[in-house]
Order: sequence, then C-alpha cells, then structure tokens
Amino acid sequence: MDYYGSHITKLIEELSKLPGVGSKSAQRLAFHIINMPMEQVERLSGAILDARTGVRYCKECFTLTDKELCPICSSDKRNHKVIMVVETTRDLAAYEKTGKYEGVYHVLHGAISPMLGIGPNDIKLKELMQRLQGDVEEVIIATNSSLEGETTAMYISKLIKPTGIKVTRIASGVPVGGDLEYIDEVTLLRALEGRTEL
Ligand code: ZN
Repeated sequence: MDYYGSHITKLIEELSKLPGVGSKSAQRLAFHIINMPMEQVERLSGAILDARTGVRYCKECFTLTDKELCPICSSDKRNHKVIMVVETTRDLAAYEKTGKYEGVYHVLHGAISPMLGIGPNDIKLKELMQRLQGDVEEVIIATNSSLEGETTAMYISKLIKPTGIKVTRIASGVPVGGDLEYIDEVTLLRALEGRTEL
C-alpha cells in the first residue's frame, strides 16, 4: 500500500539504504526534505553529486581528494620520508586533527580479513610497496587494533622488513576493536609517540 505517493515513497526507500538510517528516520528525513526551501534542496543534492563525481584517490597516498595529489602529499612542509599507514580516510582525518603529525600517509581502504574474504590484493598494499622504492625512512603502521587491523599490521611488517626500512606500530593505548576516528586526540598522540619498532 503506497500511503505517500510514489515520489515520497521512492525518497524514503533511497534514504533508508543509508547506513544507520532505519525506516522511521528515513520517513522523518524525507518529510523534512520536502518541506525544505527549494534552494536548500538544490544545495544538498548538488553537494551529494559533486562529492560523488568529483572525488577520487590521491595518486600517491590513495586518500580521497578532488585533485591528482591531495593537499598533504603536495605539501613541502610535510616529511615525505615518514609514511603512516591507515585503514581509511577517516583515520587519516583523525590523525590530522591532532595537528602534530608531520609525515605523510598511505590509505589502505580496508584491512586483511580472512573471515570476510578480504586478502592483501583487495587493499592498497601493492601501491604501498611501490612507494617504498623511493626515499622512505619509516613506515608507521596505524591500522586499528581489531583482529583485522593486527593481521594487516603483521602482514605489512613482514613484507617491509627485508627492505631495511624502519617499521613501527602505534602503541596499544588504543582500545581493542576501537575505530581510530572515535578515539580522542590525546590518546592518538600518545599512541603515535609511544610507537614501537616491529
Ligand atoms: Zn595524498
């Protein structure tokens, strides 16, 4: 039974596909949207389209950006010889918020998970190894302290070890299974400063 008319029903349907949006919230959002001023609706839909079409991977670190090189990779104020490996762009943002890290990043876009069938070839690992052919002094592995994050850290350190590049792991002040983006800046900084060589 279509209580609302097909346009509204379609909108509710699409909104309810978003993470964390149940059917009740989707209905609330849909009715909020149709009552919004037209310009605001246009800005919202425009922002969604621009973000989706204009965003791509940085060709160096694979974070999400709208240029060929992200602002961090193109900055000469950053130390390009220190690479911090993170799982997601959101983890990168969490470290950037501390304002204390001066190196660059490498975003894996995931972690190795035999249970979910995600192997080394499914994340940006080859790309990391390619970067290490350049002038790199240290790789800081800042994957999450979940099982997947630890598995990935071990795998990467084994790969890098033979190259002679220093490999460190952030300290385990980070709660197990905790997503990096939810951890406060002080804890992140402590984890970074207390990193140990693998
Ligand atoms: Zn970059």
